[in-house]
This record gives sequence, C-alpha cells and structure tokens, in this order.
Amino acid sequence: MVNTKILEPAQGAYDYPLLIKNLLLSGRRYEPGREIVYADKLRYDYVTLNQRICRLANTLSAAGIKAGDTVAVLDWDSHRYLECFFAVPMLGAVLHTVNIRLSPDQIIYTMNHAEDDLVMVHDDFLPLMEQVHSELETVKNYIQLTDHQATSTQLPTVGEYESLLSACSTDCEFPDFDENSVATTFYTTGTTGNPKGVYFSHRQLVLHTLNMVGSLGVYEGMPLLRSEDVYMPITPMFHVHAWGVPYAATLMGVKQVYPGRYEPNLLAQLINKEKVTFSHCVPTILQMLLGCDEAKNTDFKGWKLLLGGSALTQGLASAAAESGIEVYSAYGMSETCPLLTVSYLREEDRALPMMEQMSERTKTGTAVPMVDLRIVDPDGNPMPHDGEAVGEIVVRTPWLTQSYLKEPDKGAELWKGGWLHTGDVASIDERGVVEIKDRIKDVIKTGGEWLSSLELENLISQHPAVAAVAVVGIEDEQWGERPMAMIVLREEVVELDELSLQTHMMRYVEEGRINKWAIPKQIEVVTDIPKTSVGKIDKKLIRKMLS
Ligand code: AMP
Repeated sequence: MVNTKILEPAQGAYDYPLLIKNLLLSGRRYEPGREIVYADKLRYDYVTLNQRICRLANTLSAAGIKAGDTVAVLDWDSHRYLECFFAVPMLGAVLHTVNIRLSPDQIIYTMNHAEDDLVMVHDDFLPLMEQVHSELETVKNYIQLTDHQATSTQLPTVGEYESLLSACSTDCEFPDFDENSVATTFYTTGTTGNPKGVYFSHRQLVLHTLNMVGSLGVYEGMPLLRSEDVYMPITPMFHVHAWGVPYAATLMGVKQVYPGRYEPNLLAQLINKEKVTFSHCVPTILQMLLGCDEAKNTDFKGWKLLLGGSALTQGLASAAAESGIEVYSAYGMSETCPLLTVSYLREEDRALPMMEQMSERTKTGTAVPMVDLRIVDPDGNPMPHDGEAVGEIVVRTPWLTQSYLKEPDKGAELWKGGWLHTGDVASIDERGVVEIKDRIKDVIKTGGEWLSSLELENLISQHPAVAAVAVVGIEDEQWGERPMAMIVLREEVVELDELSLQTHMMRYVEEGRINKWAIPKQIEVVTDIPKTSVGKIDKKLIRKMLS
C-alpha cells in the first residue's frame, strides 16, 4: 500500500458523485433551443427534453419502479430511447437495452437473466412480447411505445408512453446515490452459448462521456463531435448505448436526430434534410447506404462517419470518400463501453490528398486518452510496439465491465491477470497506431502460418469488381486450413473475372505483403454476406455453411 496524503474534507463539503443526472446540466444551459428529432415524426427542444425526462421518471415511479429495479426497452432508435437513457438510471434503476435482433429464446433468456421488472415495448415488438410473456419470470407490467395509434393487447400494460408522460408533472428531484451503482446492462452478441450480460455504473458512463467529449471534441486529428455538429446514430441504441455518443451529444447540447428503424433510403433523406454532420455505424450499414436509391440524390459532403464494430476495408472507405464522406475508424467492444481507439490523423496525414489518407483512416486507430492498451503474448508478456509483433489486445480504462452479470467465472477469465482480454490480435506501431489482424478465433492457420482474414479482406476489397468480401479459413487435409472468400459484386458487375482477381492479389505477393498461399483459391460469389444481429460479418455461420 502506498502511503499518500488524504485530507479530511471540511464539514459540509459536498462529495460530488459522478451520476448520469449531471450530464444533463449543460446542454440545456448552452443551447435550450437545439432540437431533438425523431425521424419524420417529431421534434422538440432541449428544454422539452429535460421536462420529458422528469415526466418519464414520474411515470416510472407511478408504475412502481424504484431504485435497484430493472427496466427493459425494446424500441427502434428514438427520442423515447434517449429519454430512457437518462430517466431510468437517474431513478437509481437499471436500464436493460434489449437486443431486438436476438432470437425469441435468447430474448427470453436475457430478460429473465437481467430480472426485468417493467418492459417498455414498441408496437412492432408487441407480438413478440405477447408470444413470450408467459415465460418471463420477473416482468410485472409493460408500457406501450407507439408511433401512431396504440395497438390493443392482452399484456398487462400500465398505458401508452405519450399519454402517460403528458399526465405526469415536469418536476422531479433526482436523488444522489453511490456513483458505482449499476446504470445499464445489455447482452453480448457472441455467436456461441448464451449471450453474456455486461453492465456499467454511473461513474463509468460519466467518465466515458467526458472522455468522448474530450477526444472527439478536442483534437484536430479526430474532429468528430463539435458543438455545431448535427448528430445521428446508426448503430442501435440497444448495442452499447449507441457507442455512448447520445450521452456526449446531450452534454454538449448538439442537435440530435434519431432515425427509428434503419431504412437506408430514409437514413439518406434524413442526412440531407436535417443536415447531419456526424454519425457512426458498422461497415455493412455504410455499404447498404451507399447502394440505396436515395444515395444517388444525396450530397454526403461534410458528413463525418466513424466506422467500427468490424474492420473497415480500404475498398469501402474509398467508395465512401468518393461520395464526399469523411471516414474514421474506431474500435471497441460491448465489454468496453465501448470507446478504446479512434483514427488520429496527424498534421502530415491531413496534408495528403484524401485518397492517400485511406490507409491511415482504415487502420484500427490510436488509443484515446485514459486508455491503457497493449498487446501481449499467450503468457501475458507485453510485446513490442514495432508494427510487426502481433499479440492479443489487453486493456485497462475506468469504463470496462467489471465482470459478466452473474457469471463470475467468465468474468475472471475476461480479467485474467488484471487486464481485460479482448480476444483480438493486433500489432501496434511506434506511433501507437493499432492494427487489428483478427479475432483470435478467426485467424486462419495454414501450413503452420497465421493469415489475417481482415488483411485479405482489405486487399480483395480494392479490386474494382468487389463491393463486399468475407474471408474465412476452412478445413484442409494438407494445410490444416486454407482461406476462402465470399464476395458480393458491385451493382454494375455481372460476373467476377477470377483471373483478374488472382492478378490483383499477385501484386500484393510481389510487394511482399502476403504469401502466395494466402490468395484464396476458392471463391464464392453471393448476393449477401451473412451477418450477426448487429450487422457484423458472421464468420462462424459462413464457416458452417461452407464446411
Ligand atoms: P461487440 O462486442 O459485438 O461490439 O464486438 C466487438 C468486437 O468487434 C471486437 O472484439 C472486435 O473483434 C470487433 N471490432 C470492433 N471494432 C473493430 C475494428 N475497428 N476493426 C476490427 N474489428 C473490430
């Protein structure tokens, strides 16, 4: 134990807890008139946002919710979800953001496991809740979320959201409590076994928010979220709180646009109409957006887009840049709240023509402030940051899930040796730029060598006929595994000329970037690549389909 000096506070000195309610103080102060927009359905200002959060808290209290209870939400991205992000934890209750894309069995599992007390459910998910209600062990009642006329239901409902809110007062005193109280929980989308619950405290979410404002809002090298920006998330609010950006945007008082269900044409229209300047999404959503009809009429110039959740290929990044989109990469995971790294462009990088910046913009990024991130060998020994050595990324920051909900053994495995183990393998160069090579379980082991499926995807994506690509290792008697590529062609291309793809890849062999045996011999052209519930390439399913 280190003997530091700790002084007695004055009598009456206030020990300010890091609580989510305090994130609300500044936005309204600076920009009371700024708008919160819900697709093409509703808009109101920051004063109203604050009032509605109070009304919601009063509604929940009247429905019997108290500190320590859990409130589940099944909704598309909406103003309501934003209100829940605040009101539920501000009462001392836990917000469970339910992944609406899980199977009904998995949804039942997660809702029982999280011990949800009350469920806020959008009409689109009412049939699902009616189907599973009898199997939900702890749920007492429901609040209906509706965009039109509330649908009638047999479920025990307290009422419809808007009517309930309008009947409640705009006054509410939110209590102080321990900043380590759990604020939110949700489940990882892993493809094996039951989903695992992660959870974050008020303290963690406040520190994550302050850090996001202090990184995306401050550095010229990643100027993503500034006071005059217009923000629209395109990663769902049920998945890692839409990367936590709604909390940062609200603290700053920026205009926020919530698009409802993700429909590419509507997204493009909203970007145009609301003059959106900052969003974040997984690469597959970008792919969808660039290919939709409305994209042809949309001017994407000035739209800053942070891509994460899976590797961003140079092919896709260049296509986005051609449309005027300014792309950046980010890395994180459910367990990490999620912010770990973001592309940081130095002055000399920014001086290059945009297309020459793509290799820097598509790397995984540099760890943001307060993130202690390193790579280690299988025994946990640190490996050099020389751009060559490859090891597992381990991290420490103040905002990492401290375990898995009610699964201490899995939590201890995650935290082996006092570092959170990401399961991702990467190199880090002298500048601190991280480059993820693969998930440990997706690395292709061929003839005693390890191939990075992400690097192969990146190289294949630069062939002019390729719109999207996934590379997996499939079993091979002689080599153990060999790479196989699944390719979606660009709209205007009728057939893949395999010879031209081989020639394209041979260029990288000649440059010494890959070995000859890394070129996939087996290629399957498909119309769509299988995705997980949050839109990532589902490599486990692809391997199963191919074997
Ligand atoms: P999830 O917990 O579902 O958000 O998934 C987290 C995982 O997504 C990470 O462990 C990585 O394997 C992957 N991932 C996230 N961001 C990136 C990125 N920029 N590049 C490559 N993989 C990423």
